[in-house]
Amino acid sequence: MTLKQLRKMLDKKEISAVELTKQYLTKINKTNNKLNCYITICTDSAVNEAKKAQSAIDRGKADAFTGLPVSVKDNICTEGIKTTCASRMLENFVPPYDATVIEKLKKSNAVILGKTNMDEFAMGGSSQTSYFGGVKNPYDISHVAGGSSGGAAASVAAGLCAAALGSDTGGSIRQPASFCGVTGLKPTYGAVSRWGLIAFASSLDQIGIIAKSAEDTGYMLNGIYGFDENDATSSKNAKGNYMKLVGTNINNLTIGIPKEFFGDGLNNEVKTAVMTAIEYYKTLGCKIINVSLPSLEYAVSAYYLISSAEAASNLSRFDGIKYGFRNGLGEDYNELIKLSRSEGFGNEVKRRILLGNYALCSGYYDAYYKNATRIRAKLKNEYTKIFEQCDVILTPTAPAAAYKIGEQENDPVKMYLADIYTVTANIAGLPAISTTCGYNSHGLPVGMSLTGRAFDEETIIAVCDRFERDFVRKEAVI
Ligand code: GLN
Repeated sequence: MTLKQLRKMLDKKEISAVELTKQYLTKINKTNNKLNCYITICTDSAVNEAKKAQSAIDRGKADAFTGLPVSVKDNICTEGIKTTCASRMLENFVPPYDATVIEKLKKSNAVILGKTNMDEFAMGGSSQTSYFGGVKNPYDISHVAGGSSGGAAASVAAGLCAAALGSDTGGSIRQPASFCGVTGLKPTYGAVSRWGLIAFASSLDQIGIIAKSAEDTGYMLNGIYGFDENDATSSKNAKGNYMKLVGTNINNLTIGIPKEFFGDGLNNEVKTAVMTAIEYYKTLGCKIINVSLPSLEYAVSAYYLISSAEAASNLSRFDGIKYGFRNGLGEDYNELIKLSRSEGFGNEVKRRILLGNYALCSGYYDAYYKNATRIRAKLKNEYTKIFEQCDVILTPTAPAAAYKIGEQENDPVKMYLADIYTVTANIAGLPAISTTCGYNSHGLPVGMSLTGRAFDEETIIAVCDRFERDFVRKEAVI
């Protein structure tokens, strides 16, 4: 059920928050070994939170999230609850504080069911690089759930929570949402506080939402957005009221179709599904125009240079001394760091650290990092021009649907290239939402994305919601 439906049931007392939480926990305990979407299941604390929520409801003090059961990606800090980033490095890390988004949900008496599995340190697109084993796709467990918020997307798709918090640095909310047939929203950079999100690439990272509907993503964003003095990059421009255009007439909007997103490398079944969605908007009366993002061809390179450079710097704090995994058997200080990092990090994380440090070396800095920042500026300009002509942009979310586990993970370049349609929103800091627009011949979901102007989440949410009202989703059977 959606957050909206559950809110009604709780308010009408058709079910108590405790019963609801217990139902979800029972289902999680039954299904999680098949999907591996939770790293930590918060059985006791969830029931306690549900009791508190029910007492608030009984006192007539319920607000937006009271009693609603949600999951949280395991790179978002939760006080007293392990936050591992799916890494051996943080296997036993228990944060002494809550991320701002968690504080907000708790204030509203939400129920946190558990911490979801992901690619290690959110680096990846398959959720197979987790130290705790890979996540499986609820539509077919021989396929990946996408990543890095694969556990979050699978938990929503399989009905193991009502909605999920994830993070998106280059597509990690939208791509797994599209692989698992649910809705994923990456808000504008700065709209939601990153305080308490374990950093991967700080200029690209954004906390966002995976839910059963576009409307639910708006509902949840209303609860977590806003300026935070603990996050120097959080913004005062986020306006809230993200559901205000839901259900209004969107027929007079202009939708831009960037031709570069429909070229070589796009799977035919995905292309057909996205084209059908474009036709749908045409029948509503929306104006469809062709637009162009010429620098798309450099986007993946720029993204991997910038994100790896920032990752190399952010992850230097994990030295086996301040916190995290330690191998203290070495002879001296340097060896302690070396052994701890060698054993604490997995291969993909090491690859990014090497790439990032290499790109930042004095001799290479201009050739790599500086050029990447130039591409970034160019992409931003190109988006600004596009949004002079249209209100939203419609594209595929990923070049293909979920692939078989083991099929691509050994080819990092192929994996990186598959991020082509999602990374530009992060590079330019724009909001984007992915929803299911079809199924391939194997029955796996196919996603499309809507990207909007900065701080204009309400438009993409409304445009996405309009499509979802007329599109029949197939539930995952698990
Ligand atoms: N797949 C991308 C990467 O591997 C995106 C990750 C993310 O958004 N966290 O970097």
